Amino acid sequence: MERFLLDNVKHYQSLVSRFSPPRDKKCDVRTSPHRQVAIRIRPILEKEIESGQVAAVFPRRGQKATIDLHEMRKVVRGPPTLNSYCFSADKVFGPDQTTATIYDDVVKPLLPWVFEGGVGTLFAYGQTGSGKTFTVSGLETLMANDLFGDTRYSSSSAKDSYLLNDRAPFQILEDAFGTTQLAGTQEQHVTGAEQFLQLIAKAASFRQTAPTAKNAGSSRSHAICRVRLEDTSADSLKEDGILYMIDLAGSEAARDIADHTPDRMKETREVNVSLSTLKDCIRAMTLSDLAASSSSTGKKGKKPYIPFRQSALTKVLKHLFDPDTNGNCKTVTLACINPSFLDVGASKNTLRYAEMLRVALPKSKALVSDPAVPTTWANKDVKNFIKLQSGSPTISPYELAPHESGLQLLRLPLENFVQRCLKSPDATEEQAKALHAKLWAMHVKSQRPSSSKAETDLLSEKFSSSREQSADRASLPFKDRIRPGMVIRWVPPEGFPLRLPEQNNLALVLTPRQGTATTTTTLCRDGFKDVENAGDQSKEDRYLCAMVFPGALANAYEVNLWRQVLIHVDMMEAEVVLEYDNATRYYYLTS
Ligand code: ADP
Repeated sequence: MERFLLDNVKHYQSLVSRFSPPRDKKCDVRTSPHRQVAIRIRPILEKEIESGQVAAVFPRRGQKATIDLHEMRKVVRGPPTLNSYCFSADKVFGPDQTTATIYDDVVKPLLPWVFEGGVGTLFAYGQTGSGKTFTVSGLETLMANDLFGDTRYSSSSAKDSYLLNDRAPFQILEDAFGTTQLAGTQEQHVTGAEQFLQLIAKAASFRQTAPTAKNAGSSRSHAICRVRLEDTSADSLKEDGILYMIDLAGSEAARDIADHTPDRMKETREVNVSLSTLKDCIRAMTLSDLAASSSSTGKKGKKPYIPFRQSALTKVLKHLFDPDTNGNCKTVTLACINPSFLDVGASKNTLRYAEMLRVALPKSKALVSDPAVPTTWANKDVKNFIKLQSGSPTISPYELAPHESGLQLLRLPLENFVQRCLKSPDATEEQAKALHAKLWAMHVKSQRPSSSKAETDLLSEKFSSSREQSADRASLPFKDRIRPGMVIRWVPPEGFPLRLPEQNNLALVLTPRQGTATTTTTLCRDGFKDVENAGDQSKEDRYLCAMVFPGALANAYEVNLWRQVLIHVDMMEAEVVLEYDNATRYYYLTS
């Protein structure tokens, strides 16, 4: 494969130069601010360039935190093709970015946290040769200078570095308080940056290395540097702060390892188990953070299981993962990438691992604010509506809706709505009611099915309207086609107790009047008087109707099924069409 890639390097480069990134990758990934995932792409090295290697992994221009990786594929017929993959993380550091930038961006912010008694951890992960050791040792140097050079830290704290002891075996034990103790390791008291870095160099020399096909100095063990910051001021009750810098063993696949002895294969398996458990633990911690944040917003969050006992590495780091204490711990995982096109397979695995550390949430439908649909309004849209629509003097949006969304304002009872409006100087009750009516009119309009809606909507429209459904009958004069369900405007006789002004008297036809009555008499429960002057007394011309009264909102009506009246056709003026609105549970006059 290596030969094939090197032979086709020109073709590869021309394919890469023609690559145009797809539109923004839709990634619905939410990460906890305590669990950052960053990627560092190291530069391609002189000797790699000399051997004909070119870069295959690139930070996407203009799009922070996104990476494109290009892989050349053999095809059965024709020239090789390009497969491109896109990955994302919280931060991406390209080949031009220095270790100091990474330090300032992701490590330095951990120090104040650690100093306050928290636990901060940096994991560097990637295939051998990807720059883990280069990066971690650079970060450790910068950290040492900061810790020992900054008076904030040096004035009241002692620093200890915790190192594995001369390759001697050590045991992972849990004490009676559930704290992990590493029997057979040393903790050294450190007082200066130089001493600290010397200890780190000594520890690095113990680190077990064995050659892989890719790298003669492949690290097949994890290097854990632990710095404990102890506040030595006499009255301090602070917990000791702990900072871990962890250079994880190379994540190469078994096929890249030169020596396939049983011991080496066992070691590779152990490294893989620890990396895979670490991934599960970090993911579970992120879920745990998200569960904690959703329970603080009222929703019940279930604590996920963190499988830290499944590998020696995560057992050593127990207090990072322990569900009872991990709220106190921040982690940064730095995925290191060798950009060479010969290493795309391993880089793809590293980047996939990095993506797996982040937790994808189920797609939530983002509510897009629509100026015509009050239920979609955020508080700023509500305030805007109040400012523009309340008339003069303006009703203060801060009095009426200090925090409410459109939906919440709609749910506010009219009485409270008016009370809030009246807190604005000179606002009147009529003005408040008019604003309420405007809001509701918009809401009702927004709920009506539009003509382009699906058939089901048309069907529901058919059953929610009093309109004549038969086109043939609709052309007849309304008096020739009176039917149950028709709404009519009528003129009640003088003295009728529920007579409304102007053209507001509406009624819903229930049934033609059957039976023996010869006078038009109200049949209302509350004993309305007889309806006089009912014209022709013939029983066929009278209909039992339910009265329709104006509702609390503009143009809204409600049907009073138990307030019935007999209406003679002569008293009917016209058919009107009412439509039912589910949202407000009122009927509305259509024009
Ligand atoms: P790993 O620890 O992942 O096996 P190393 O840290 O040993 O990898 O890096 C492999 C090689 O790449 C080393 O020669 C190192 O000096 C070089 N290297 C790594 N990162 C960078 C970088 N950001 N800039 C320059 N050279 C780098």
